[in-house]
Amino acid sequence: MSTKSDIVIQGGGPVGLACAAWILQKFPAANLTLLDRNPAEDEKLTAADSRGIALSHGSKILLDTIAAWPHDCADIHRVHVSQAGRFGRALMTREELHQDALGHIVRYRDIHLALRQALRAIQLKSPNFTWQHIEGEAPSPDAKCVVHAEGGLFKTQDWVESGRDYGQSALVGLVEVENAAPHQAWERFTAEGPLAVLPSHYGSNILNLVWCGSPESSQHRLQLNDEDFLNALQAEFGSRIGRFLKIRDRRLYELGLNYRKQITKDNEVWIGNAAQTLHPVAGQGLNLGLRDAFLLAEKLVAVYSGSAEHQSSTELQSALASYAQSRKADRTTTIGLTDFMARVFTSNLAPVVLARGLALTALQWLPPVKTALARQMMFGRR
Ligand SMILES: Cc1cc2nc3c(=O)[nH]c(=O)nc-3n(C[C@H](O)[C@H](O)[C@H](O)COP(=O)(O)OP(=O)(O)OC[C@H]3O[C@@H](n4cnc5c(N)ncnc54)[C@H](O)[C@@H]3O)c2cc1C
Repeated sequence: MSTKSDIVIQGGGPVGLACAAWILQKFPAANLTLLDRNPAEDEKLTAADSRGIALSHGSKILLDTIAAWPHDCADIHRVHVSQAGRFGRALMTREELHQDALGHIVRYRDIHLALRQALRAIQLKSPNFTWQHIEGEAPSPDAKCVVHAEGGLFKTQDWVESGRDYGQSALVGLVEVENAAPHQAWERFTAEGPLAVLPSHYGSNILNLVWCGSPESSQHRLQLNDEDFLNALQAEFGSRIGRFLKIRDRRLYELGLNYRKQITKDNEVWIGNAAQTLHPVAGQGLNLGLRDAFLLAEKLVAVYSGSAEHQSSTELQSALASYAQSRKADRTTTIGLTDFMARVFTSNLAPVVLARGLALTALQWLPPVKTALARQMMFGRR
C-alpha cells in the first residue's frame, strides 16, 4: 500500500505525534499522513511503558503550545547529586535558577496519551491529515518529504551508526519510601552506574526509580524477591530518605548511544530516537527529540504553506539542509554531554573518581558553571 501526501511521518511515539501536531497547528491545511504502529484506542495502550521521564522546563513550554502537557506530573524543585561511598556532592535548587521548577517527571505512557489527545483535537481542524494505524509490515512511505520518527530503544533498532555500548542496563520501577522531601530528586553515582530516585505524581512517598548497572546485576535485581530487592537498594542508596518499603513495576532497558551523523538525505529526515538514542543519565533523549520535532515543523510549514512554486524538491532540500544545520549545536552538545556523563560517572579508575568528586564540589562552589549546566539541561543549546 502506498500513501500520497506532501509529508509522511513514520512513527507515532511522542516525537512523531508532537511533530504532526506542530505542523498542523501552524498550517491546518497541511497534506500530512502519520503512520502509527500503536492501536487507535487508548485503552489498548494500557500495558504501555511506565518509565518515569524527566522533562525539562523547555519541553513543558513547547508541549503547552499544543495543549499536550500531561495532568499527571511531579515538579522537581531540588536535585541532589552525590557519589556512593566517595566525597563530592552538589545541590541544585529552583531558587538559584529563578525558575518555578528545575524539571518535571512524567511517565512515558502519560506523555504519549496527552500527545495523542492533543493531536486528535488538532485533527478536527485539519482536513488533509490522515492518521493511519498500521499492523504488521509498515507500508513504504511515498511522499514529497518522509520524516522518520520510528524511535526505538538501544539494541532494538535496525540501524547502528555511531555510538557506544556502555554495557549497562537500567532497572526502572516505582518505589515507596518512608520519608522523602517533596519535589526532590536524587542522582547518586554508584560503582556500576547512576541511580536516580525521582518524584512521581502518586505522592511524595512514591518515587520513580532508575537504577543503572551491569546487565548481569540488573537482571539479577529484576529477579530478586521484593524484600531482597529493597535491601539491595537500601544498601546502595543509603538512608537519606528513610527506609525503602515497597517496589512495583520493575522493568529493564539496555542502554547505549546510537546516533546518525547525517540526519537528512534527499527528501528524508530523522528525528527523536530515530536520529539519536542516548543514555538516560542526564534525562535528555525525549527533550532533545521534542526540540527536533518543533524546529522541523517550522521548516516544513515554511515550505508547504507557501505558493506552489515554493514547494519544489529544491526548496525542500534547502529547508532540510537548514534544519540539519540548525540542529547541529544542540545535538552535538547534548550527545557529547550525555556520553561524557555516562562514561565519567561509571568509571572506577582512582584518578577519575577523584576528579569526579572535585568536579561535584567545584560545581557546588561555582554557581555560574552550575547555572550554565542546568540551563543546557533545561532548554538545550540555543
Ligand atoms: C530507562 C529510560 C529512561 C529515560 N529517561 C528519560 C528522561 O528522563 N528524559 C528524557 O528526555 N528522555 C528519557 N529517555 C529517552 C526517551 O524515552 C526517548 O528519547 C523517547 O521515548 C523518544 O521518543 P520517540 O518518539 O523518538 O521514540 P519512541 O518513544 O521509541 O516511539 C517511536 C514509536 O514509533 C513506532 N514505530 C516504530 N517503527 C515504526 C514504523 N515503521 N511505522 C510506524 N510506527 C513505527 C513505535 O511503535 C513507537 O510507538 C529514557 C529512556 C529510557 C530507556
